[in-house]
Amino acid sequence: MQTERRTSQKEGEAPFESCAIDIDTLFDTMIPETFLKAVEDGFQNADEGILQIVSQTIPYFNGVHSTTLKATITSNGLSIPVSHFDPNSVSIYMDETKESYEYMRTFRHEYGHFVDHVFGVLSESTAFCEAFNKDAALYDVSTIDGEMRLKTMQAEIADNIHAFASEYVTDIISALTHNDTSFIRKYTENAVQTTSSDPFYYEKMEGAGMSGHSNAYWDEGPFMSQQKEVFANLFAVKVENNPIVQEFIKEHFPSLNRVFEQMIKECSITTA
Ligand SMILES: [Zn+2]
Repeated sequence: MQTERRTSQKEGEAPFESCAIDIDTLFDTMIPETFLKAVEDGFQNADEGILQIVSQTIPYFNGVHSTTLKATITSNGLSIPVSHFDPNSVSIYMDETKESYEYMRTFRHEYGHFVDHVFGVLSESTAFCEAFNKDAALYDVSTIDGEMRLKTMQAEIADNIHAFASEYVTDIISALTHNDTSFIRKYTENAVQTTSSDPFYYEKMEGAGMSGHSNAYWDEGPFMSQQKEVFANLFAVKVENNPIVQEFIKEHFPSLNRVFEQMIKECSITTA
């Protein structure tokens, strides 16, 4: 199926043919057949600017490989890393034992790391770091306002199944709050309080552990790991283009949302 995305045009003007990006051929040569349909579907709702960025950055990309290629033998047996973007080889390593839906969701995030990298590591820029610090300060529980805001977000995510089930959203919260334990406890309670007759039972149980990174990763992982993960998650959210999740991001992470939107706009102009 050909998906055409064109900017609005005045009468008599030629359409922007360059904006008619065919998602169904974008990933043909890099994604294994088993996962190709899921990945194409996963990018189906992305807006024109994002697709522009994806199609124009692909030539700088060295491909998608299986994580088994990075397997090492340890004293405990074979050790295979989790899916990740490798900045040294400028390629993505994907865990191919996953279901195709999960593979696609992870791939959207990893592609976000690649976009960050290819544009000169935007997540390390002053603008992005300032936005990160501003939004993190919103949930600084050493202040009364911070504690209130965190409580409000807890209440709102419990009622918002789309944000609740999004590992992109919860990973941003994990980074911004440095895994605030009261938040995680509350999150787990939501899952515990559900029953199998709840229509969102599986989604709530899936969120029971709250998808995120450990504090060890935030503190001792790659340089500026919190900012890098938030950037990749914001990119994945943009690709997914679920208006309810986008609204949650806009409301709860206003500075990051604003700076990220601006960066994406500039990237798509650069690549146009
Ligand atoms: Zn990541």
